[in-house]
Amino acid sequence: MLAVPASAADVDAGPLTSRDSLFPHQGNGGYNAQSYHLDLTYVRHGHALKGLTTMTARARQDLTSFGLDLEGLNVSRVWVNGVRASFHRGSDKLVVTPVRELRTGSIFTTRIQYAGVPHTHVDPDGSSEGWIPTADGVVALNEPVGAMTWFPNNNTPRDKARYRFTIHAPKRLEVASNGRLVRRTTRHGIGTWHYVMAKPMASYLAFLAIGQFKIHHGRTSDGIRLLSFTDPKVPAPTAALRKLPGILHWLQTQFGPYPFADAGFVDDKIGVDYALETQTRPTFDGTVPITDLVHELAHQWFGDAVTPADWGDIWLNEGFATYTEWLWAARTGESTEDQFTELLAAHPAGDPFWQTPPQDLGDPANLFGNAVYERGAMTLEALRETIGDVAFNTTIRQWYVGHRGQSTSTAEFIDLAEQTSGQDLTSFFHNWLDQPTRPTGW
Ligand code: ZN
Repeated sequence: MLAVPASAADVDAGPLTSRDSLFPHQGNGGYNAQSYHLDLTYVRHGHALKGLTTMTARARQDLTSFGLDLEGLNVSRVWVNGVRASFHRGSDKLVVTPVRELRTGSIFTTRIQYAGVPHTHVDPDGSSEGWIPTADGVVALNEPVGAMTWFPNNNTPRDKARYRFTIHAPKRLEVASNGRLVRRTTRHGIGTWHYVMAKPMASYLAFLAIGQFKIHHGRTSDGIRLLSFTDPKVPAPTAALRKLPGILHWLQTQFGPYPFADAGFVDDKIGVDYALETQTRPTFDGTVPITDLVHELAHQWFGDAVTPADWGDIWLNEGFATYTEWLWAARTGESTEDQFTELLAAHPAGDPFWQTPPQDLGDPANLFGNAVYERGAMTLEALRETIGDVAFNTTIRQWYVGHRGQSTSTAEFIDLAEQTSGQDLTSFFHNWLDQPTRPTGW
């Protein structure tokens, strides 16, 4: 019998994966998102959501259908280029089939109408993300995969896009999100907040915080617009509010110009026990220690502006942000070299600390572990000691200036460090990033 050829429909369906090394089920191939508009109504009763998400994208292949990531929620209607499209749900997927096939290179717009009570997503390490109800509202945090609990999207850090938010909530509540607050209106007891995130953003960095907040406006001497939100029911983070402009200034002297036009932070009683580098406006859980503020602001350069394309490269975020904490401490206390030496002494060869290499996490539960934060930062200090201050500082600055707005990889970082230093760093990085043992002799 003749083998049945795959139908044209199968051939041209966009793959329902971004081929991420740790989260292969997330993300979708076949297109690149260019922009999202989220028009969302927060319903206080039951912390429910009504949404209309519009994604504009470019087809990278002929497409008979394409996927978006979406966990839970009820989808009622989908349009492609203004025409109703059919759709079905897979596990954490929405698969859209337009009436007409989309051609390679064409720009298309898809609009999804949906509603429901979004899920709080539990991560492989047991932490909570996604839609998180609070005492007076809700917070939506997305690292690594929570974005799909509140809007359909291409949920991979590989595919950055611009964002607009139109958020409706009861008028006595405040709404925080990414970027510039361009307008705020009230009608019939509903407040509508318009935010624009004009620079590319990975979906894991989008956020919402709705609740009762005290709002703090300001502007730095170099013109960055400041807008912060603090929960009046927790002790006011006065030191963080006061030090924010100075920390931003210091970071610019270290790494280059601040990547965005807006900055600030959100402090809310969330109960997740972590802070997150939500783009332009990091989110804190009820307390804003200065070291954590430095860490989340450092991520605006490393993570937010320069983003790893694959979750397996997350040391590029956390190693850099942790190293920046060391640099901050070194201004007035211990040098980075001393902080590094102390960690080395605390973890002799054979210590389980060394078992998980930053570039080979194996299990997504290790995403936010010591190997990523501490061994990641140690890798950078060891690199500085290997190539010297001048080449090291050039590498770090070039890494930001040459890759801002993009998604990139460890291989690119290694290339850059080799070019800048003129050294072959193959075995250096292999020992620090790939081996389940304590490096020696760097
Ligand atoms: Zn971090």
